[in-house]
Amino acid sequence: MANQDDQFKKVVAHSKEYGFIFQSSEVYDGLAAVYDYGPYGSELKKNIKEYWWKSMVQMNENIVGIDAAIFMHPKTWKASGHVDAFNDPMIDNKQSNKRYRADQLVEEYVENKVMKKANKEIEKARKRFGDAFNEEEFKTTNPRVMGYLEKSKSILTRLNTSLTNEDLEDVKALIEELEIACPECGSREWTDVRQFNLMFNTQLGTIAGEAGKLYLRPETAQGIFVNFLNVQKSTRQKIPFGIAQIGKAFRNEIVARQFIFRMREFEQMEMQFFIRPGTQKEWYEHWKEARMKWHQALHPASKLRFHDHEKLAHYADAALDIEFEFPFGFRELEGVHSRTDFDLTQHQEMSGRKIQYFDPELNESYVPYVMETSIGLDRMFLATLSTALQDETVPDADGKDSTRRVLKLHPALAPIKCAVLPLLKNKEELTSKAREIFDKIKFSFNCQYDEKDAIGKRYRRQDAIGTPYCITIDFETLDDNMVTIRDRDTLKQERISIDQVEEIVLKKIDMRQLF
Ligand code: ATP
Repeated sequence: MANQDDQFKKVVAHSKEYGFIFQSSEVYDGLAAVYDYGPYGSELKKNIKEYWWKSMVQMNENIVGIDAAIFMHPKTWKASGHVDAFNDPMIDNKQSNKRYRADQLVEEYVENKVMKKANKEIEKARKRFGDAFNEEEFKTTNPRVMGYLEKSKSILTRLNTSLTNEDLEDVKALIEELEIACPECGSREWTDVRQFNLMFNTQLGTIAGEAGKLYLRPETAQGIFVNFLNVQKSTRQKIPFGIAQIGKAFRNEIVARQFIFRMREFEQMEMQFFIRPGTQKEWYEHWKEARMKWHQALHPASKLRFHDHEKLAHYADAALDIEFEFPFGFRELEGVHSRTDFDLTQHQEMSGRKIQYFDPELNESYVPYVMETSIGLDRMFLATLSTALQDETVPDADGKDSTRRVLKLHPALAPIKCAVLPLLKNKEELTSKAREIFDKIKFSFNCQYDEKDAIGKRYRRQDAIGTPYCITIDFETLDDNMVTIRDRDTLKQERISIDQVEEIVLKKIDMRQLF
């Protein structure tokens, strides 16, 4: 755990120091759970988007992209169920005035007060029995562990039942029975539990009162649903086909912690795949596997897992998360949801317009079913950055061991692809040659020219932002037109001709390797 905490702190500090992510409005002490992407962060984010867009839109003839507005007609959110049901149960502590999600208070109690004890017993036994230890058997026979597991199950079952039945009084009763105290001040004086709608709203300038109430979209999906017929007709797509979109979404999260994992303004990459009713099982399997494959092209399989939803959202008939092992444990990175015909039917009813597809093969019209894949771009960014950030012991210029902090990003995602470094700053013949090379290649990919500090220090700076290649121009270059190319990961240095630089870098950064 200590290691995980350290790694997370390292990621947050590195993000700021090297221009990946800044707290929003930092000069005013920041705005909670809102972040800005800096020069390298915005490049990395752009490259992640490109990887997603290429794999979804460009590589699939039957998926097209759109870019819908953030504001939508307010009836959209009534139809989708967000006005009535996009809520989290909140509770305030009367002493500290801190607000919490009531369900999370209970879940954290179970994790920290019950399951921790069970896990401690399991670890103790593992040490005692060594190789002969059978965890499953121990869990089902050791009375103390069985007691903890039973207690945890009964608390979570009661919580889920109360939430499903909207019995918020019982959620409060549970918090009181478990004697849960405010993590901030230790007080057990709680307000009642109330539902809190997560949508931000604002007002349309021309209409006063309720009628002019607008929402900032809490998901990008609805922009796709209301455009279903426009897109289908204008592109002549036949079912099955998909519509993809990347864009901002806003949620007034009650508790937003863990850096860019849970933000109030974030970006989603969503794809809605329209299918014939009755074919949802096979498409669910298809997209589940396809999305996992996409993740595994970048990250080790051991860091990824599926988690099936037990409690389904009002619109879904099957749903799972793809979870990633963040520095603070396995958490949701992407959702795959079988959304049935819920959304299109709702919009059809609310708008009074027919939203159907005429299937020429079946010779009939129907409201299509939908398979959704929905990934948080910022969470993908955090997953990528935290996995890539490593401390390594490597030989320095004198052959002695030294540590370096390196971002082992896939070259296709790296913000800067190639750094151009004259060996010395004050030698005009070297700097002008380096500038000449820089100008020659800068159109093809992101390059950085750097002449400040000793060459070793410049290499370390490039390692820290994940640059796959550094090119060094020295006095020999002036005679033989050769430069030294240094590989970020192997640290190998080779002499190559200036004419080869562009080709070598382009090959290394080619996104095709991920497909
Ligand atoms: P969670 O359970 O973590 O709140 P969710 O199940 O509400 O997430 P979805 O509504 O399925 O999330 O949204 C799809 C994806 O959008 C999530 O898998 C996640 O990657 C991303 N996402 C959702 N909420 C946030 C947020 N507040 N900040 C950053 N990304 C988010």
